Amino acid sequence: MSQKINGVKGMNDLLPGEIEIWQFVESTARTLFGRFGYGEVRTPMVEDTALFVRSVGEETDIVGKEMYTFEDKGGRSLSLRPEGTAPAARAYIEHSVNNQEPVSRWFYMGPMFRYERMKTGRYRQFSQIGAEAYGAKEPAQDAELMDVVVQFLEALGLTDVTLNINSLGDDNCRPAYHAKLVEYLNAHKEELCADCQQRLERNPLRVLDCKNEKCQAVAAAGPNVLEFLCEPCRAHFTDLQRKLGVLGIRYVVNHRLVRGLDYYTRTVFEFIASHPALGTASTVGGGGRYDKMMKGLGGPDVPAVGFAMGLDRLVLLLKESGKTFAQRPDLFIAVADEGSQDEGLKLASRLRREGLKVDFDTRGGSLKSQMKRADKSGARFTLVLGEQERTTGQAKLKPMAGGEPVPVALDSVAATVRAQPEAPAPAPAC
Ligand code: ATP
Ligand code: MG
Repeated sequence: MSQKINGVKGMNDLLPGEIEIWQFVESTARTLFGRFGYGEVRTPMVEDTALFVRSVGEETDIVGKEMYTFEDKGGRSLSLRPEGTAPAARAYIEHSVNNQEPVSRWFYMGPMFRYERMKTGRYRQFSQIGAEAYGAKEPAQDAELMDVVVQFLEALGLTDVTLNINSLGDDNCRPAYHAKLVEYLNAHKEELCADCQQRLERNPLRVLDCKNEKCQAVAAAGPNVLEFLCEPCRAHFTDLQRKLGVLGIRYVVNHRLVRGLDYYTRTVFEFIASHPALGTASTVGGGGRYDKMMKGLGGPDVPAVGFAMGLDRLVLLLKESGKTFAQRPDLFIAVADEGSQDEGLKLASRLRREGLKVDFDTRGGSLKSQMKRADKSGARFTLVLGEQERTTGQAKLKPMAGGEPVPVALDSVAATVRAQPEAPAPAPAC
């Protein structure tokens, strides 16, 4: 017997039954981002490795440890994208979008790849929905972007999520904070985990992000970045908070929030869910301002702010909610005898063309087995087609949730089904 081949570790298949939740999240995002004027951008799954090294940063976990990097047949170093902000910025620069409009608002959704240690909510292929606003440095733009996320989560019915905000300052004021932080962390080096002792050398801000409790305790008592902000950065952060107030968006100021990428300046934010199902993977999304990145990638001096949400984690939360997302069939057509099989197939085809969601057992078989299948399908109605129905042109719609059958002419099934009031879905038979 041939050996079975499994999927790649950390990369999941999404099958019908689960995919409906994903489709719900994706279509909600499309509607909502569209309302805010964000247009969809699709970039390739693979980019020049240098793009991520120069934007995300060599010292980050993402670039340093997690990237799927390979050489193509032409000897180029390419990487599966680990995130969406740098590819979008690359496309923005490459197409000189700044010459076409002063402000651009883009969103993207799709798979990202990181070689991570897997657990609940943490995979090697995962999906993100993200948005980027280019060309506006004002705090109103940061607030608008957070409003997109707030309304998106509301539309998904996920309300138990807290917005954390912070400011990391800019090139002017961050060095002083950085120096103070290094001094402080060095004095507490022995209390830090092995990873953080290394981070301290290479990327001290990352220590604040560590999930280890001891490191968190050290970080909590460390210098507060907000006390180091220069006047323009302080004003930006204060105004952002005022704007969030104007929009009625609740938030928490968290001076330890740094985020895992190097490119942020000033505003950073995260949306953190409190549901225990996510364990340590409780951050459903986050983002920040990256005013210097475009220039660092050889592009124009255009300020930008963006965020990315992890779809896998949103889907986990929605699964916990117990809601159903699959659309049930309007009608199941069962045939009473062999001779009605063709007519049944034809009727199903016609009703689908007329817009109904119709289930039909292509295997035929006994009426009893078809009725079992009808039960399982969760269809609103079943119509049994036999010789009598075919000759009279009259049939009955049997409501699967119980109740009186509804007489129907075979040439007006779609209209009759649509005219019936919605009853709650029957519990599917086991
Ligand atoms: P974490 O601290 O959880 O590792 P991160 O800071 O690496 O997150 P970002 O790069 O900011 O995450 O990505 C934004 C969102 O994408 C995260 O908040 C999370 O919801 C999701 N995400 C990131 N990495 C993964 C992963 N390996 N599997 C599933 N979702 C992920
Ligand atoms: Mg990470």
